[in-house]
This record gives sequence, structure tokens and C-alpha cells, in this order.
Amino acid sequence: MVNILIVEDEKPISNLIRMSLSKSGYSCTCAYDGIEAADILSETRFDLVLLDIMLPEIDGLELLDYIRPMEIPVIFITAMGSTWDKVKGLRAGADDYIVKPFEVVELLARIDVVLRRYNKNDSVFKIGDLDINTYAMQVTRNGKEIALTKKEYNILLLFARNPGRALYRETIYEQVWGEPYTYGSKTVDLHVQRLRRKVGWKNMLQAINRVGYKLELPNEDPI
Ligand code: CA
Repeated sequence: MVNILIVEDEKPISNLIRMSLSKSGYSCTCAYDGIEAADILSETRFDLVLLDIMLPEIDGLELLDYIRPMEIPVIFITAMGSTWDKVKGLRAGADDYIVKPFEVVELLARIDVVLRRYNKNDSVFKIGDLDINTYAMQVTRNGKEIALTKKEYNILLLFARNPGRALYRETIYEQVWGEPYTYGSKTVDLHVQRLRRKVGWKNMLQAINRVGYKLELPNEDPI
């Protein structure tokens, strides 16, 4: 799972970004000032940092000096829209910038581009005993392909990007079908049950009473 650190002192903006990125399958951590961000960065490995420039304690440009040796891509979030600030940010070593207020879809697109540039958006990843190739939209076990419909594939991907997290039927429906969920609909259950049979995840794809489903991976042996 791609880990993103959001460094933004304005909580409504930070919350909006966190919720949007979580929905898109990214794992997010929030820091609200420069020192907190530095502390978190010293303990946890991230694939990308979204960095506000105007921050309490240590500002974004100073924090960037701290992040750069870690070779983590950085996208600046800036309220200052002047060309000079953009140039300064990019020359300081940021990979991209986005100017507030911005559309979430634009942020997601920029994140995608930067992650691809760094090959951090793994095109093939392993989840449980399956390999998922997100470019080919292909699922294999021990090299043998498992034929899934597009909906089943998208449901699998949603679970794979949110292991251990209980997903509401509504969330699954809205993410995979792209339309509002009708209460009482059994569509999600039908698809999840078929998916479960096809991939053989009888115990791993668990139903949660009155909520939805959760992917529970077996504990892996420590390496
Ligand atoms: Ca700020």
C-alpha cells in the first residue's frame, strides 16, 4: 500500500485530502506542523509527502531540506499562487505543486504522475496468495490466471488496497459502480460471493454483520 504523509496545518483541508486519498486506496498520515512532520518522517517510511508551504514551527521549504536526502517525492500545497513561489518550490527540489483551492481529482492525478515517475505505484503487487497486475488488470496465483469480470476485479482491488479495513456495502458499491447505493440492494453481496469463490478466499473475505465485508489476511511469518 502506498503511504502518503499529509503536512497541512489547516484541518479542514487536511481532512478533505485524507478522506479523498483513503477512498482512492492510499494509506495516509497527517501532520499539522513542521516539527511533527519531521518526527513522523524519522520513524515511518513514506512513498510521497504532500507539503504545505506556510506551516507553524518549521515551514515547508525548510522541511523540504530535511526530506530531500530521504529521496521521497514531494508535492507542495501552496496558497501562494505567484510564479516566483512555484519556481522557488520546484528549484528547492519539490516534484510538483498544487495551488489552493484545488479540485481533489487534480490532486489525485498529480499524485499518480509523481508516483509513476518514481515507480512507486506498483503495477504488480502481492496480496495474500494472489498477484495483481494493475496495468494488465490481471490476477494470478502461482502464475495461473484467475478470470474475473471487471466488477469482480475492481472489488478485489478495493479490498487489496484496504486490507483489514471494514468496507461498507455502500462504499463498495459507490467505488466500484460509481453510483449511489440503493439501500437493501444485494448486488454487492452477489458479486463479493462470486469473487470469494473464484479466488478461493473463503476465510479471508469476511462478511461483517450489518456493515459489509473485510479482507483479513492471515498473519505472515516474521522474516
Ligand atoms: Ca498553511
